[in-house]
Amino acid sequence: MSELISGRTRVCGLFGFPVEHSFSPAMHNAAFRHLGLDFVYVAFAVHPRELERAVAGIRALNLAGVNVTVPHKEKVIPYLDELTAGARLAGAVNTIVHRDGRLVGHNTDGAGFVRFLTDDAGFNPAGKRVLLLGAGGAARAVAVHLALSGAAQLLVANRTLSRAAELAALINEETPARAWAVPWPAKDDRVLPERLERKPPGGHDPEEGEGTFVLDTNDGKIKELVALVDLVVQTTPLGMHPREDTCPDFPFNCLRPGQVVVDLVYNPPRTLFMERATRSGARVYNGLGMLLYQGVLAFELWTGEEAPVEVMRRALPF
Ligand code: NAP
Repeated sequence: MSELISGRTRVCGLFGFPVEHSFSPAMHNAAFRHLGLDFVYVAFAVHPRELERAVAGIRALNLAGVNVTVPHKEKVIPYLDELTAGARLAGAVNTIVHRDGRLVGHNTDGAGFVRFLTDDAGFNPAGKRVLLLGAGGAARAVAVHLALSGAAQLLVANRTLSRAAELAALINEETPARAWAVPWPAKDDRVLPERLERKPPGGHDPEEGEGTFVLDTNDGKIKELVALVDLVVQTTPLGMHPREDTCPDFPFNCLRPGQVVVDLVYNPPRTLFMERATRSGARVYNGLGMLLYQGVLAFELWTGEEAPVEVMRRALPF
């Protein structure tokens, strides 16, 4: 934020409901101040029934752009002029850029996760094998952007298997990566859409079964998969405040040194999942990096300037 808001100040912001607890205003305004940019970032509590009019307001008020958060990330799509490939495949937009009267939707959650991996964790996803725990909105954004960044194989493990199968099918149909759905934990919903019921001929080995979607893992098989992957991403809300005592059911003893493990939860900054994974010798990270770099990418899209990453990192509370 500039020392003084002027007649030229460009306005960015956040559309969500609620928005009071967002860290984005602190992060972006610290970056504007640091670079002396005449920009300001404001949080707007946009009620779901006002979303269409709020998006029209981006044009009407000539805002530079906005972030979009819960519950608007999917619902905002019909009101935009254009989507990036990542946003289209993720089915969600968290950043809108307003340029020359056009509104372009980006998904910097997924792209930010990849930038965190490369810049902070020193992990290049190209050619790598990944295990995702969960198949919700965050998993979809992360899976799509890993696949677009060259990840070779994605194993999507989820409680509701049909949801994992849908995400695996999307990756197989729309990206060069190959994906499989994995029942996890090993009970629950086994009802699959008919076209996804084919199993790899050789069982659970991801090298086998061209074009198949579901891995036939019975109890214990996920252990063998854990040993095969380079990266594990925990995308369920288990362990998040105020349920810090919860932890995904996971064979931590199958992790090995050299693997990278990321828990997308960042509050608390060290979850039970991270605690247990650390004992295996794997390199373990929380979700603050993803939060930071989704902001970094949005900042760069709006301003055209290189973001002061460390200034933005220091503006986060943890
Ligand atoms: P979501 O769409 O509701 O998906 C939640 C996922 O977790 C689903 O796959 C769900 O399985 C699974 N799940 C929920 N409770 C479970 C349980 N008790 N046991 C096993 N699986 C369970 O949520 P989301 O938007 O993807 O968000 C998920 C997490 O990511 C949240 O903690 C959120 O804070 C975090 N996140 C972090 C960032 C960041 O910047 N670091 C960004 C976005 C999200 P079913 O399909 O079976 O229901």
